[in-house]
Amino acid sequence: MINYDYKGHDFGNKFLIGDAAGLASGLTGEGIYFAIKSGEDVAKKIINKKYDCHNIKHILEVKSFEERILRTLEINRLWAKVEMELVILLFKIRWIEKLGAKIID
Ligand SMILES: Cc1cc2nc3c(=O)[nH]c(=O)nc-3n(C[C@H](O)[C@H](O)[C@H](O)COP(=O)(O)OP(=O)(O)OC[C@H]3O[C@@H](n4cnc5c(N)ncnc54)[C@H](O)[C@@H]3O)c2cc1C
Repeated sequence: MINYDYKGHDFGNKFLIGDAAGLASGLTGEGIYFAIKSGEDVAKKIINKKYDCHNIKHILEVKSFEERILRTLEINRLWAKVEMELVILLFKIRWIEKLGAKIID
């Protein structure tokens, strides 16, 4: 199980990084690089409150793009399942089977 459900990382005087912040990739499952970079950002943020956490911003952009791909894959997976069920249903209908046999003859 890999947590990729980002809900924020900056909670006042508390910060989340890496998997704890849900920064891993939902698409590839990778999260080591994101954990290191978000750790760097939060360390800099603790030292300098004005630090912009640009690594985390970039990670979130990448995640947003990946999650759009994930949603598309999930929708297509559902369609593939529906198509397969329809094919199975068609094969169960006797007259289609007979029609198929006539065509082969
Ligand atoms: C099977 C699997 C394969 C993966 N393969 C890849 C891969 O190929 N490439 C990649 O980039 N990512 C991969 N990942 C994801 C990657 O492991 C994580 O995204 C990454 O390790 C996150 O680092 P982290 O420091 O945020 O968390 P973690 O590496 O989980 O570190 C958290 C640490 O905190 C400790 N801890 C927890 N609770 C407490 C507590 N109460 N007190 C003290 N310590 C505590 C834990 O024991 C742990 O050592 C994989 C994950 C899994 C599960």
